[in-house]
This record gives sequence, C-alpha cells and structure tokens, in this order.
Amino acid sequence: MDSITVIVPCYNEAAVIAATYGRLRAVLDLLDRRTCILFVDDGSIDGTFGILSGIAEVDSSVRVLRFSRNFGHQAAVTAGIHHCDTGLAVIIDADLQDPPEIIPELLATRDLEGANVVYCVRKSRSGEGRFKLWTSKRFYRFLNCLSEVRFPVDTGDFRLIDSRIIEEFRRFKERGKYIRGIISWVGFKQVPFYYERESRLAGETKYPFRRMLSFASTALFYFSKKPLLVAVGLGFAAVLIGLVLALWYFFGKVFGYTGAASGWTSIMIAVIFFGGIQLLTIGVLGQYIGILFDEVKERPEYIVERTIN
Ligand code: UDP
Ligand code: MG
Repeated sequence: MDSITVIVPCYNEAAVIAATYGRLRAVLDLLDRRTCILFVDDGSIDGTFGILSGIAEVDSSVRVLRFSRNFGHQAAVTAGIHHCDTGLAVIIDADLQDPPEIIPELLATRDLEGANVVYCVRKSRSGEGRFKLWTSKRFYRFLNCLSEVRFPVDTGDFRLIDSRIIEEFRRFKERGKYIRGIISWVGFKQVPFYYERESRLAGETKYPFRRMLSFASTALFYFSKKPLLVAVGLGFAAVLIGLVLALWYFFGKVFGYTGAASGWTSIMIAVIFFGGIQLLTIGVLGQYIGILFDEVKERPEYIVERTIN
C-alpha cells in the first residue's frame, strides 16, 4: 500500500488550523496505510506556526515547513510537493473548504480507475460571493479557449496525485507556477471526483481581488501565447482600415467627392482608437517580457526557514 502525504498550505490560519488538523487526523487514522500531514506555513504572522509546532511535537507524523516570509499559495503547494517522500499526495486547503472526509473516496476512485490524478470538481460552492463565483466560472472557460491544453473547469488544487505526477512536477523549473494547469499539462490518467465545496470554517480569504487577478494572469500568460496573436490580429485590422481610408480619401481628393477641411472628429477618433490599440499591444508584450525577466533571474521560488520532523 502506498503511503500518503497530505499537503496543507497555510497562511495566517490560526483560527482554523487546529480544527483542520483534528479532522484530517480522524480521517487518516481510518486508512490502512502510513500517513503524513505536511503543513507548509507560508510566512504566517498570526501564531499559526506556534500551533503547528505544538501539534508536531505530539504527533510525529506531522511535518512542518516554515517559509522565511509569505511567498504565496502556489509556492507553498510547490514546496509541499517538492518535500513529499510518499507514493501519493493530496493537496488540500487549510480552511476546511475542501472536506478532508472525502480523501478515502479519492483513494477508492484512484484504485478503481487506475488513475494517476483524481481532481476534485466543485458541484457547488457555499460561502463565496457571487462576484467571485461568476468571475472564476468565466475565467476557467476563457482560459480553455486560449490555452493549448484543456483544463478541467471548476477545479482547484484539491486533488490526489501519485508518484508519477510528483516526479514529473519536480522537473518544472518555472517560477510562476499555476499548479492545477501544470498537473493537467503533464497528462497520464486523470479522473474527476465531484464534491460540494463548503464555506471557510473561520478566518478570512487570503485571495482578495488583487491576488485573484495576479493568479489569473499567471495562468493566462504561462499557458497561452494567444494574446500575442490577438495583438497581431489587431495590427492587421488597423492596417486594413488605414489602407481603405487612404484610398477613399485619395480618390476623393482626385474626383472631388470628399469635402476637405472638416475632419477634426474623425482624426480624434482615429488617434484615440489606434493609440489605444498600440498601448494595449505594448502592454501584452510587456507582460511576456516581465515574465522573461522574472524567469531569467532564476531566483528560488521559496525559502525554507525551519522544518520540523
Ligand atoms: N494560502 C497560502 N499563502 C497565501 C495565501 C493563501 O498558503 O499567500 C493558503 C491558505 O492558508 C489556504 C489556501 O492557501 O489554505 C487557500 O487560500 P484561501 O482559502 O484564502 O483562498 P480562497 O479559498 O478564498 O480562494
Ligand atoms: Mg479557502
């Protein structure tokens, strides 16, 4: 029987982390295999680490990695996968939105289907704002139109992965990680598991709108070059419009069917419109250049300050 590590990224989760541990422990104790809980403390400043140290002192199957500062959710999960030494891993949020009680069902699904990945699809999500629900629903579908690989929709990082995936994941050197995308990209046999997502037990979301935007932009720009094609398309369209207008005005002058002098409005519209297109396309280019800049520096994705067990 493969042993299993449950990877739990935590950032300022002091309000829930003890309860999360309790529910995970209860579920894992029922499994007939070696289990380990790996908490990755992403630079919390609210006492999360103190609570985790206390837990790890009495439960030797609990490991804790503490980052030197906040590096972000995806870096925390990445560290968890890098440090996992078992044949299976489950990635789960610390706030109990993803119920630990379905872990045995994920294992059963894996055995039944012989899958390398069992990803959890949200049938419903309670306790989240309408805006967040709508934007994330639209976003996953938008991303699928643009990217070269198909991603399952309505899916977070909550999933079971096996050693094949863990091994392949270690080979990904990119610093901007969109983990659910990378795992889909890797391939092998991946099957869905449908569940009801609960509301956060306590504490607040660590993904305000600003962070959601940056997460979405990593997903988009790391998994698609189509925005560059859109820029090219806009350029072509502008050239075509320019050509038609040039001919129209040239022959208008020659044959006298366009009145001269007037035209302030049309010039203003053209200047603003084409100026806008230029800035937009430069912005798109800038996004990719920014990513190149970040990636060529080859900085570490995270820095571990302390480990327990
Ligand atoms: N998280 C993290 N580092 C961060 C932000 C979040 O490790 O910088 C963890 C957080 O503790 C939680 C998970 O990532 O376990 C998901 O975050 P959250 O529940 O706040 O996001 P939401 O479910 O609201 O999208
Ligand atoms: Mg959450």
